[in-house]
Amino acid sequence: MKSNFPINSFSKIETPFYYYDISLLRKTLDSLKEELAGHDNYHVHYAVKANANRRLLNIINEYGFGADCVSGGEIEAALGAGFTPDTIVFAGVGKSDKEINLALSAGISCFNVESIPELENIDRLAKEQKKVATVALRINPNIDAHTHSYITTGLSENKFGIDMSLIDKVLDKLSELKNVKFTGLHFHIGSQITDMDAFRSLAVRINDIQEVFYRRMIVVDSINVGGGLGVDYHNPDENPVPDFHEYIETFKKYLVLRPKQHLHFELGRSIICQCGSLISRVLYVKEGVNKKFAILDAGMTDLVRPALYQAYHKIENLTSSAPVEEYDVVGPICESSDCFGKAIELNAAERGDIFALRSAGAYGEIMASRYNCRELPKAYFSDAL
Ligand SMILES: *Cc1c(COP(=O)(O)O)cnc(C)c1O
Repeated sequence: MKSNFPINSFSKIETPFYYYDISLLRKTLDSLKEELAGHDNYHVHYAVKANANRRLLNIINEYGFGADCVSGGEIEAALGAGFTPDTIVFAGVGKSDKEINLALSAGISCFNVESIPELENIDRLAKEQKKVATVALRINPNIDAHTHSYITTGLSENKFGIDMSLIDKVLDKLSELKNVKFTGLHFHIGSQITDMDAFRSLAVRINDIQEVFYRRMIVVDSINVGGGLGVDYHNPDENPVPDFHEYIETFKKYLVLRPKQHLHFELGRSIICQCGSLISRVLYVKEGVNKKFAILDAGMTDLVRPALYQAYHKIENLTSSAPVEEYDVVGPICESSDCFGKAIELNAAERGDIFALRSAGAYGEIMASRYNCRELPKAYFSDAL
């Protein structure tokens, strides 16, 4: 069965471009919101790095979610799209002075701090602005998320977070500094996590880590468990909305919250991935040795995930119902890694056919580059075609 795309509208638009299904985005946001109902102490901050398209940010903001930013630019994008500073958290292992100053001036709600030198620097800059910065400590919980090594972040070998073996030093430092105020703990173990066991392990580990703080009489106001919930890249039509219920329920069940404690989530991919597709035309069908290449006008500059992480995107030929043949689907960029998939079964393709690369809403448009002096892809929305 063919997926439901407005192919008549597509035929009039120059390719490649991103297409966002706004009703699916709303359905996804509704589903997440439903899971949070009745939990006033649960907060979601959308991870802006997954997709910072202004229109999409506006819609996510409409639902009352906050923003998780990892750069000054993302803070500006979030503010520009209407997110209020008190819902913005700022993470990242290498925050520059300029970015910290911007965040302090804007009055964001929390810096997620990853090292002692960063803590000292935020304290120094806050003092200059005569402010007290609210900080959470990003702890590296040493948990294997069982995902691709490039998107695993919660192992001791990764550059992220503070190892618990150093926590006494960090807490001593915190008690010395006057312009930072501790509010809670932050974690993020990786991305595209589909096995809830990883989140369960994180919850159980956080319970132990909390004990260390309470033994030292330190009140932890908030626990931020990061993001990382995965999506079904292989079956985007069967599973368009991720299982937020199972995800939230895992923390509800295994994470022991203290009275009045707030629980924060930073979901990116799971909110924005399935509503986006990269739409491209076939430039040429080229005969190779024992294979055929479908050469698209979209390349790794438009969607880098396959080249960067060997990621899978489902590919469909939207304009053919001819018998299925096998193709290597490639882009026009002068790199052998510019390949979207090998030996992909597709309805027989010819020049001009329109292909959809599915589940491209997250880490797609935002990662586009101008390599080869190519234009950046444009974006179109289902409710404004
Ligand atoms: C990337 C990131 C997220 C979002 O991850 P997803 O897998 O897209 O949900 C959340 N928090 C932090 C700190 C991140 O770096």
